[in-house]
Amino acid sequence: MLEKSKTYEKSAPRVYIRTFGCQMNVRDSEFVAGILIDNGFTMVKSADSADVILFNSCSVRKHAEERVFGNIGQLKHLKRKRPELVIGLIGCTAQAYKEKAIERSPLIDIVCGTGDEAGLPRLIKDLLKHRRRIVAVDKIGRPKPELFPKFRDGKIKATVSIGEGCDNFCSYCIVPYVRGRERSRDAKNIIKEVKSLAGRGFKEILLLGQNVNSYRAGRGKDFIAILEDLNKIKGIERIRFMTSHPKDAHAELFKAMRGLDKVCEHLHLPIQSGSDRILKLMNRGYTSGKYLKLVEDYRRIVPGGSITTDIIVGFPTESERDFKKTCALLEKVGFDSAYTFKYSPRPPAKSSVLEDDVSSGVKEERLRSVMELQRKISAGRSEKVVGTLVEVLVEGPGRKPGDLAGRTRSNKNVSFEGKKGLIGKTVRVEIVSAEPYALKGRLA
Ligand code: SF4
Repeated sequence: MLEKSKTYEKSAPRVYIRTFGCQMNVRDSEFVAGILIDNGFTMVKSADSADVILFNSCSVRKHAEERVFGNIGQLKHLKRKRPELVIGLIGCTAQAYKEKAIERSPLIDIVCGTGDEAGLPRLIKDLLKHRRRIVAVDKIGRPKPELFPKFRDGKIKATVSIGEGCDNFCSYCIVPYVRGRERSRDAKNIIKEVKSLAGRGFKEILLLGQNVNSYRAGRGKDFIAILEDLNKIKGIERIRFMTSHPKDAHAELFKAMRGLDKVCEHLHLPIQSGSDRILKLMNRGYTSGKYLKLVEDYRRIVPGGSITTDIIVGFPTESERDFKKTCALLEKVGFDSAYTFKYSPRPPAKSSVLEDDVSSGVKEERLRSVMELQRKISAGRSEKVVGTLVEVLVEGPGRKPGDLAGRTRSNKNVSFEGKKGLIGKTVRVEIVSAEPYALKGRLA
């Protein structure tokens, strides 16, 4: 039983949401904020001023999960001072842990899984009224993909979910278990959402899905057809998408990227490993050869396009030879950047039954060395842009006073001097210098 307070009977409960993890989680937090506002809650920007603190968590990596529980633990003093404070865990970690989340952290009052978030306003109101802990984690096949967030945490760029869940069952991945099987969203609803964003002045959209290329909706609409429809929407200047799965990527998609003027020239195509033996154990459904052929097609069809990837080091049985193959592939492709991770078993994903036999020291060393290698490769890729003119959508002030910051169509960060009135506009910038992950320019 939780402590009773009169705060909630007097005024609208104030909610603070802390988000961990991928763009999908950021989008989910916007969705939750929107439905809470619609139901009389107020959103606040700090935990100190909140009556309800929600942690929207990612459980894809063990490290992310540990950070979430660590952050919840840090609220011990606040909860002691204000016992009526409600602490909630939502998202993938909530779905994976269920009741065990409360065993792990008794500070948690509500656990709400990925399929139950649409019911959060009612659940929180029940909790505030009856003061009993709540665990809601049953509706894996949620209706949420058809609903879109009314609340947006920005004015220039917005994320748009085109589907939820995944059928691929990569052996290391927990997503199909915590987000359910793949469900493509209705094309009409996606178009409606993007039109509404355009009407509100948004310039860029990022289409999200665990595997966007396998999007299939009614009447034969596939991913390319959706890109074509969205490309016609007035007001939207840029369309991005992630994540693409190599087994579903193909030359026709690259041709669409080239032919549709708003679709940006950036492809995020996770390779995960350069060793075919490890790729097979990972159940990725492609070989390094097939991946390299895709990259070749992409570079031929979308000249100047950027390509980024994900890498996991230390998968069970990964030998030094396997790891070297990953490094060789990185060099061969010349990725613009890569997200690199150490393997950790995530039950009930299939690989969690394999012995986690690469020691943490070796994983650490491989991670360090792959990051160092990628940094050099990224530096070389960035250098190539120096002296060229690029189109930048200005997203806000830069780090240095007087600077603005934005991104190129190929998704590279650029900063340059300019007036605040340019925020939200697309400008031409000449690149004058480069660091591995950031470009410096001047207005052309
Ligand atoms: S494609 Fe594989 S890694 Fe990506 S979400 Fe699906 S199962 Fe996980």
